[in-house]
Amino acid sequence: MAGEPQADCLFCKIVAGEVPATVVRETETTVAFRDINPQAPTHVLVIPKVHHPDAASLAAAEPQIAADILREAGHVAADEGVDASGYRVVFNTGSGAGQTVFHAHAHVLGGRGLNWPPG
Ligand code: IMP
Repeated sequence: MAGEPQADCLFCKIVAGEVPATVVRETETTVAFRDINPQAPTHVLVIPKVHHPDAASLAAAEPQIAADILREAGHVAADEGVDASGYRVVFNTGSGAGQTVFHAHAHVLGGRGLNWPPG
């Protein structure tokens, strides 16, 4: 059922505390933790506690939680001190765009210059 934890989902296991993560923020609906393979000095993932495979699915099913993700991304940037210099929030969607974990997540990247367009 949409939103239910998936037994084979890495990020559902992080939400459940079954896989360790360096958690930097947590709310009733979201968890933010450091990416295991950081691409910038600040690289934090913000995920919903509920399982949806990508950001669009999350927004369609539970728009308030999608809004929570965006708000938390901003709080992460402020907590990390990258809000003044600029940061990027990325939702890779689909394997062709680089999505490898099919549980919705926002990447919050900052602390270095970020080129545009991205690769
Ligand atoms: P995607 O490629 O947009 O799906 O992003 C998935 C991200 O999850 C990648 O940046 C990975 O480095 C990251 N990742 C994979 N496994 C873990 C983990 O166990 N802890 C934290 N981050 C992870």
